[in-house]
This record gives sequence, structure tokens and C-alpha cells, in this order.
Amino acid sequence: MKTKNHVLVLLLLLGVFSTHQLYSWGFFAHKRINRMAVFTLPPEMFSFYKKHIEYITDHATDPDSRRNVVADEAPRHYIDCDHYSTHPFDSIPTYWKAAVAKYSEDSLKAYGIVPWHIEVMMYRLTDAFKQGNIDRILKLSSEIGHYIGDSHVPLHTTENYNGQLTGQRGIHGFWESRIPELKAEGYDYFVGRAEYIENPLKKAWETVQVSFSEKDSVLLFEAELSKKILSDKKYSFENRGTTTVKVYSEEFTSAYDKMLNGMVERRMMASILTVGSMWYTAWVNAGQPNLDRLDTKEVSDSLRKANEAEEYLWKHGKPLETVKGHTD
Ligand SMILES: [Zn+2]
Repeated sequence: MKTKNHVLVLLLLLGVFSTHQLYSWGFFAHKRINRMAVFTLPPEMFSFYKKHIEYITDHATDPDSRRNVVADEAPRHYIDCDHYSTHPFDSIPTYWKAAVAKYSEDSLKAYGIVPWHIEVMMYRLTDAFKQGNIDRILKLSSEIGHYIGDSHVPLHTTENYNGQLTGQRGIHGFWESRIPELKAEGYDYFVGRAEYIENPLKKAWETVQVSFSEKDSVLLFEAELSKKILSDKKYSFENRGTTTVKVYSEEFTSAYDKMLNGMVERRMMASILTVGSMWYTAWVNAGQPNLDRLDTKEVSDSLRKANEAEEYLWKHGKPLETVKGHTD
């Protein structure tokens, strides 16, 4: 198992995978985004979320963990806008039904559905607040945080998501994992207070548009810098456990981050504020239920069991119940 993980890390760092399968803000950034979003919340929500902040943090990466075993999962993390046209936002209908009518559901799923999935998650989270269902509030809050985070990543909006069309393989993990891992301690996490969002679907589209508008810089600057910094300086080797892995060097990472002029930090801070604001909006739309009423309850046994079953599935590729006869 250990060796398998090391191979995976190596392949990831080298950008070997050729589908969207394994990409999104690195695990580190997703966890940081969910965690920091808790601090944007108003007092009526803060004590509940603060109490469960470890859950919200730890489960920020669940949607990525199940991408390989749940067939419909992968397209929820991205949208290849440039598949549709060079001016995609004039072409793609805002609403899901209109988009299905224009392109078919299969085709939409083939090229990613992240803005629409954020809307679906908002409905589910709002319902969970209405029902006072603590398990679902926690699970859905963690997971919507993931999808919102992904929608802020420029390379989640293009077919050239890993630079594979322009000879820049590996840029995906470089932008969203390597830079935050090296730089995020120095970020200023003061992002302000969560705000009510009138139209979550519109907000999700606005986010995707900004991400898409930044993807050219993400790719161009890396290409420019690669001409200046020769490959023996572009990469370095680091020890991870017992394995040596090839990574983008600190020198190359810092120079690229400087060229981007704070873009990674800006997108991460915007993610934090949007996640907090979506949680807040779902709570308001549910009629502002009293969360302190739920506050005495710890993460319930049923949620714990459900998480165990999911983790089993990710690790083994088959459901727990088929092995142990579990039915729940
Ligand atoms: Zn993701």
C-alpha cells in the first residue's frame, strides 16, 4: 500500500495522468479553505461550525477521494469552457435545463458541470438546515466547500487543464498544490465577513468566468519562465518518506508566483469568502434555524459509520456492505 501511494505521488508530481481524474486544489489548500471559511461566519453560525471545524477541515477532500470509484463524481469538479467556443459565456446557457436542451446531459457531463453542481449542493444544504440534520449539514458544508474551491482554479475551466496541449504537463499540480504548499503560510487570511448571495448559480458562473479569464496567464507565464530558467533549475528532487520525487524547484516556484502577482493567493482568499458566504446563504434561506440547538450533539454515529463506509470504498474499490454484510 505504501509503495502504491509513493508511485501515486510520483505520478502526480510528474503530471503523468492525462484526464481530470486526480486534480483539484491540493489537499492542503482544500483543507485550509474550508477551515478558514468558518471564521467568516456570523455569531449565530460560528459556534456550531467552530465546534465541528476538524470535521469540516478533514472532509474537505472527500469529493476527490471518491472520484475514482463513483462514476458521476469527476465532472462535478470542473468545466471545460473552451470546449464550447472561444467566447463560451455567450454560448453556454446559465441554467441546467437549457444547457441540457442545447448540448445533452451526456455531453455536459463529459466536459464538466461544476457551476450547476454547486447550485444542487446549495439546495441540499438549505434542506439540511431546514431539517436540522446535523450529519447532512456537516457533510454538505464540507463538500460544497470543495466544489466552490475547485471553481476558483483557472485550470479547472479549460480543456488544457494540465498544459497537455501546450507541452506544459504538470502545471495543474504546480499551480494549485506546489505554490500553496510553499507560500500559503505567508498569506493574509483576512477575507472579511460572509455575505448573502442573491443568486448562487449566478455567483458560481461569475467565479468560473474569472477563473477562465486567468487561465491564459497561468499557462503563458509558465511558458515564458521556462524559456528563462533551464530545466536543471526548473526542477529539483525532494525526499518524501522513503521515496525521492521530482518537483518544481523553489526558485522556479517563487519566480512564477511573482509573475502571477498574487493570483494563487487571491483565488484562495476568494474561495474562502465564497465558501463562507454560500454556507451563510443556505442558512438564511432555510429560515435562520437556531444552530445552538444542535450544538450539544457530537458528530453522530451514523455519520461516522457512513464516513467509514465511504473510506472503505475509496481504498478498496468495493462497498463495505458486500464484504461485511453491512446494510446501512
Ligand atoms: Zn476536486
